Amino acid sequence: MTLKVYNTLTRKKEEFIPIEPGKVKMYVCGPTVYNYIHIGNGRPVIFFDVVRRYLESQQYEVNYITNFTDVDDKMIRKAEEMAVSVPELAETFIAAFLEDIQSLGVHEATLNPRVTENIQEIIDFIAALVEKDFAYEARGDVYYRTSKFTDYGKLSKQNLEELQHGIRIEVDERKENPQDFVLWKAAKPGEIYWDSPWGQGRPGWHIECSAMVRKYLGETIDIHGGGQDLTFPHHECEIAQTEAVTGHPMANYWLHNAFLNIDNEKMSKSLGNGILIRDLIKQIKPQVFRFFMLSAHYRNPLNFSDESLKQATNALERIQNAYDNMKHRLATASATGEVEAGITDKLQSISNQFVDKMNDDFNTPDAITAVFDLVAEANLYLQQERVNAEAVKLFIEQLEAFDATLGILSQQGDELLDEEIEQLIIERTESRKSKNWARADEIRDRLTEKGIFLEDTPQGIRWRRK
Ligand code: AMP
Ligand code: ZN
Repeated sequence: MTLKVYNTLTRKKEEFIPIEPGKVKMYVCGPTVYNYIHIGNGRPVIFFDVVRRYLESQQYEVNYITNFTDVDDKMIRKAEEMAVSVPELAETFIAAFLEDIQSLGVHEATLNPRVTENIQEIIDFIAALVEKDFAYEARGDVYYRTSKFTDYGKLSKQNLEELQHGIRIEVDERKENPQDFVLWKAAKPGEIYWDSPWGQGRPGWHIECSAMVRKYLGETIDIHGGGQDLTFPHHECEIAQTEAVTGHPMANYWLHNAFLNIDNEKMSKSLGNGILIRDLIKQIKPQVFRFFMLSAHYRNPLNFSDESLKQATNALERIQNAYDNMKHRLATASATGEVEAGITDKLQSISNQFVDKMNDDFNTPDAITAVFDLVAEANLYLQQERVNAEAVKLFIEQLEAFDATLGILSQQGDELLDEEIEQLIIERTESRKSKNWARADEIRDRLTEKGIFLEDTPQGIRWRRK
């Protein structure tokens, strides 16, 4: 079965055909870096990471770009509040974001371009729109002329008339039409600015993605993604900007994830029910959060609650236990030799099941069912007294292949507890005493690998985490 993805642009599941065979150009709108990310922000981060990992598992070479909005109104306000500069604020929260998503096992993007590194490209893009009459200057601001782009509304399926009704009547005499949006904002006194043909100012929000997509990926890309709230206005505006300049579709497939709610309520500042990812992963293993995210289809709303986390914890434990058990049995397996055909056939059919489900618009909950089928087969096999090491290896390899996409397993001893560290240090000291240098080195390497550093002091060995 070939990969099918639901395209917001056509409201249909479509066969995925990349522009260039074997390669995928993918862009996901990233965060505005003015605070720590909350668990809702984790949904696009994790989902699109899984999309990318899955495509890679299917032998695609993926160019994955996700941006940082490092200057905008919110950034300026927050920097003022914190009495720091906008670039300082950005540095702090970019570092925090990268740290958070790394804890969640998200693979590094090919590139994380920033607005402030692309000002010239943004100005050039706006100038091209002005040149083509798709944009106009008004007292130092530049606006997009939506009435000129006949496709405006095609992504969110609204026509201009509906859009005009939907817009709050805000009196802004600089705009020709209320739905026109800002491309360049004149700086107010004291605000960060760049020089431009329209005076000192900064980019509007939407233009950065058009400029970066064109610069880093080209005129048309394969996949453009983000949370569903970005469909309108953000992605609608990106399409209007890019397609007016290039005359080509901006992206062939538009993917949007649904929202994460908390206790069946929207997460919102006024309800004060937001939870930061960095706080959550002090309470639960990051893999549990990932598993929980993937336990619903990305286009369905997902509810975060103590109960749903408990379920995710238990379910993931079953998978992790089976994995640990397989590795343990591999170490002690006696028999080797050809694997029974029954096992290889079963593994093949479970692997096909996983791929079929992922090919069906990234149906992760059903793909996880295939993981449980594998776990059940493995557990059954391991009940035998004598197991074939080759067979156990195949079970492990299959589970690890699934995990290359899902990223939900921990390696044994992933997180060493304090007591385990102390035990290992004692064992190392004893190994040295008995001149078992090989074991002593092995222990030191294992600790280093886990980010534990040893220090010889007159009081004995001290250890610290990196
Ligand atoms: P924001 O920080 O609100 O600009 O959002 C950054 C990304 O997170 C965007 O792709 C949003 O669509 C997404 N996002 C924000 N809140 C949620 C939520 N509760 N559930 C899922 N995605 C969200
Ligand atoms: Zn964007």
